[in-house]
Amino acid sequence: MATSIIPTIHLTRVYDLLLDTYGTPVNEPDYDPLGGLIGTILSQHTSDINSERAYKKLIGTFPTWEEVRDAPTYQVAEAIKSGGLANIKSVRIQDVLHTLTEQQAQQGGSKALAEYLSDELAQRATEEAWRYLQQLPGVGPKTAACVLMFHLDRPALPIDTHVHRTSQRLGLIGPKVNANQAHILLARVTPAEWVYPLHVNLITHGRQICHAQRPECGRCSLYHACAYVGSVNAQETAVPVS
Ligand code: SF4
Repeated sequence: MATSIIPTIHLTRVYDLLLDTYGTPVNEPDYDPLGGLIGTILSQHTSDINSERAYKKLIGTFPTWEEVRDAPTYQVAEAIKSGGLANIKSVRIQDVLHTLTEQQAQQGGSKALAEYLSDELAQRATEEAWRYLQQLPGVGPKTAACVLMFHLDRPALPIDTHVHRTSQRLGLIGPKVNANQAHILLARVTPAEWVYPLHVNLITHGRQICHAQRPECGRCSLYHACAYVGSVNAQETAVPVS
């Protein structure tokens, strides 16, 4: 855990302004990283409602992840069809489960897959656990960070399009830092207990105010802390004179 990180004055200011504006979101981890990983795969390219429906149907049809692994792929696809891209996601889910099974077999283990993944992550520091998850088929930096942060309350910071854009504009990361790099850079400078609130509040800020096109700088509570104001497109970020 990165509890010893001392944040910069700028990050502290931005973090506090975000809390003042959007409140303090509280994480509710379920400590089920394999369920979280499958759920995150199901959530790709669809709405939360659809992916949650697909997840419930999947675990209702197959009570264990071993049964999902061993089922005919078309039956898995049928169970998750409400989540969209069922043919692709069913293959991806079974690939992950087979990979974990093979890894455990090579180590001579015989745990349930959920317990196996949980134990593998528990013995790794967060950044190492984040890299470990990415060696599973179809798991990228964002999915890996989502599993760690949402499901294990570990200080990994998922960088979606909103977090990337707003953290760049606010000067939390440099203008040339891409999303993959930002996963590491932002997590390394953010105190562990700030990671979840910062992630959630940057997404909210990106959705509500700091849009990709035409950010609403004139009603932004972070205006005076924003590196983007006047530096890139002065006209776009100017506060209208009332
Ligand atoms: S001032 Fe404008 S660019 Fe800066 S964070 Fe606010 S909305 Fe985004």
